[in-house]
Amino acid sequence: MKSSEIRQKFLDFFESHGHTVVASSPLVPGNDPTLLFTNAGMVQFKDVFLGQDKRPYVRAASSQRCVRAGGKHNDLENVGYTARHHTFFEMLGNFSFGDYFKRNAILFAWDFLTGTLNIPREKLWVTVYAEDDEAADIWLNEVGVEPSRVVRIATTDNFWQMGDTGPCGPCSEIFYDHGPDVAGGPPGSPDADGDRYIEIWNLVFMQYNRDSAGTLHPLPKPSVDTGMGLERISAVMQHVHSNYDIDLFQSLIKAAARATGTGNLADNSLKVIADHIRACSFLITDGVIPGSEGRGYVLRRIIRRAIRHGYKLGQKQPFFHQLVEDLSQVMGQAYPELTAAKKRVAAVLLQEEERFAETLENGMQILETALSQKIKVLDGETAFRLYDTFGFPIDLTADIARERGITVDHDGFEQAMARQREQARAANKFTMQEGIEYTGSQTTFYGYDTLQHEGQVL
Ligand code: ATP
Ligand code: MG
Ligand code: MG
Ligand code: MG
Repeated sequence: MKSSEIRQKFLDFFESHGHTVVASSPLVPGNDPTLLFTNAGMVQFKDVFLGQDKRPYVRAASSQRCVRAGGKHNDLENVGYTARHHTFFEMLGNFSFGDYFKRNAILFAWDFLTGTLNIPREKLWVTVYAEDDEAADIWLNEVGVEPSRVVRIATTDNFWQMGDTGPCGPCSEIFYDHGPDVAGGPPGSPDADGDRYIEIWNLVFMQYNRDSAGTLHPLPKPSVDTGMGLERISAVMQHVHSNYDIDLFQSLIKAAARATGTGNLADNSLKVIADHIRACSFLITDGVIPGSEGRGYVLRRIIRRAIRHGYKLGQKQPFFHQLVEDLSQVMGQAYPELTAAKKRVAAVLLQEEERFAETLENGMQILETALSQKIKVLDGETAFRLYDTFGFPIDLTADIARERGITVDHDGFEQAMARQREQARAANKFTMQEGIEYTGSQTTFYGYDTLQHEGQVL
């Protein structure tokens, strides 16, 4: 079953159960300046859940484009390392705004997976929040899931909250067992982080309102928010273990191989490039432009990582922009806005490729030399020089170093940056002879660490 078919079946299923199908919202959230990118299906409904916005429906379903690169949800460092994480992915979701609750949410999900998609029930595991007896009871006694495959989890993995205050509640997640050939333990076990038991669907039960003292008050009208990764459920349906083996990714990987002149389709760099062309193309479609701050800097970091992977494959000419056309072949039907924007997207990418080409080669030589010195940690001075003179975002340097088992001295990098700022300030003061204190243009570094620790509500 092709991924486009699964997306359609999902929307049809929920439409037939009284849900209004709502289009994906853009990746730049229109209603929340504190959020870097749309990272879940519920983002466009946030105000509805908070009771601050009303819709003409109480049940909705969507296939939402999401980016998790930067901010609280940052999966950039997982790409190329796990079978299941992307920077860009599609989240299938059904939502109840004070209408149905736990029981129906669970029954819908189970019916869709085992009825519509025909997934064998013994391949599915479920988790519930440790204190959520109600959900456990529904799974065990109504759905009839084998008790050994119902796991109680006491951590925040199974308790969702919108922010420090506001709507929150337990969640119940559904996992698929890809079988003993893959390493990893069941949910809740010490080696649950492997790729054998893959989380496919999260059902969030918004049941409480948390006040500023931390006390939970039951919501008068509890709500439901769910999210299932389209790529993960496609892998299940296509009997492949890795998301990168699904139809959609395979055609992008072939395109990346063509554009970089690579014979080995299994090369990991092709996966990263295939992932990144999706994130970059949709971010540009949705109005983000590569730059040195905020969202634009996240986009630049992803583009430069992709270019570097092309370079690693021996491709020194601009290639990344060519993949926009291939992407629009596989995703343009579902996302007409991508097709409409594709010329502009390719032009923006080409410009960024040409720009980075001016410094990439020299930067790589410096980095290669440094990394071949039998070191465990790359010094902050070198990382800063690469950043400042050669346009290597710190996470790019760290990513290259990681491939050799080397880490980067982030503190040293920050210190080198602070030192340079100080020197620039002093130099500016010196040249402004009128005695006006001029501190130069204040550029905020919006890099690696900042993004990790940025205060976000989601
Ligand atoms: P994981 O534990 O695997 O990182 P998560 O718990 O962070 O996933 P949720 O926030 O619960 O994910 O999102 C709901 C669903 O979206 C997940 O069950 C999964 O199917 C999908 N999903 C989440 N992150 C990604 C990603 N980076 N790439 C692809 N799919 C994802
Ligand atoms: Mg995650
Ligand atoms: Mg999880
Ligand atoms: Mg989850």
